[in-house]
Amino acid sequence: MKVLVTGGAGFIGSHYVRTLLDGECPGFEEADVTVVDKLTYAGRRENLPSRHPRLTFVQGDICDASLVREVVAGHDAVVHLAAESHVDRSLVAPAEFVQTNVAGTQVLMEACLRAGVERVVHVSTDEVYGSIEHGSWTEDLPLEPSSPYAASKAAGDLVALSYWRTHGLDVSVTRCCNNYGPRQHVEKLIPLFTTRLLRGLPVPLYGDGGNVREWLHVSDHCRALNLVLLRGEPGGIYHIGGGTSLTNRRLTEMLLELCEADPALVRRVRDRQAHDLRYSLDATKIREELGFEPRVPFAEGLAQTVGWYRDTYDLGTPDTPYAPALAS
Ligand code: NAD
Repeated sequence: MKVLVTGGAGFIGSHYVRTLLDGECPGFEEADVTVVDKLTYAGRRENLPSRHPRLTFVQGDICDASLVREVVAGHDAVVHLAAESHVDRSLVAPAEFVQTNVAGTQVLMEACLRAGVERVVHVSTDEVYGSIEHGSWTEDLPLEPSSPYAASKAAGDLVALSYWRTHGLDVSVTRCCNNYGPRQHVEKLIPLFTTRLLRGLPVPLYGDGGNVREWLHVSDHCRALNLVLLRGEPGGIYHIGGGTSLTNRRLTEMLLELCEADPALVRRVRDRQAHDLRYSLDATKIREELGFEPRVPFAEGLAQTVGWYRDTYDLGTPDTPYAPALAS
């Protein structure tokens, strides 16, 4: 068995690769794993084991058709996580998002089709639906993305599904809520706030902090991806949710407590353009069809994550340029 993971040097990808190397995916316990990753600012080779007898690392761009054709050949399954993933960046530099998330997905699906790959999982996000004031999205609802990031992911989902409808490529699409855990890039909310609060620096809270997000530990997401890989229906869409929903304000309070930081460090900044108010996934399908339930309680997972940044992350690392401007 050979599995190709795109974006395997990123946050979720590196956790996912480890589940495969640790034999956590039934039927793939001995699988050889290839990672293809461009190593953009978000990817780090160090996120993966430096050596492993079943791991091959290829630095490359999923938009490079000849390279992707070469890399995909001989693989039984492909799990596609490579993407430009940060909403704030997509507001100022959207072209890279369309290039990687849409064109790159097409290049990859085409290569999978030509190589006769038996199973493909395309990893996507709850953000493709836009914002929902009440209730939860089911998998059949229309896509109404707000940001260029979400729009590029929505387009990538449609491209992937078109390869199922047109050519019968066995691909499933997953849409997960916000992930958290160790090794997430510091531009994202939880690591950004944690690494700043631990240094006694101010943190930027968008608007009134009332935006609601659902949070799932990255290990739960990876377990769900393996369930979809093994038993997801071809052409099917699966929500990966069932995490904890809370406002950014409440999340900030929890981080202040865990970092033992002064609440005065929280600075309200101008709201993000077209900032979705609330996301909420209906995760009934994956629960009933594939038996998925999250295992990591949020308070426990968050405390462990803060502990990881406190103990492991170099707090001397300069700030990311895409953190929203801090109010003076
Ligand atoms: P990330 O930004 O940490 O990692 C993305 C990886 O993709 C990086 O290693 C990067 O180098 C690589 N990459 C980017 N462009 C590439 C290209 N052109 N060719 C090859 N590699 C390239 O992102 P993440 O948070 O790990 O997200 C992984 C996937 O999961 C994405 O598709 C994202 O949309 C999706 N997702 C993320 C979340 C979340 O909360 N982080 C939630 C739901 C879905």
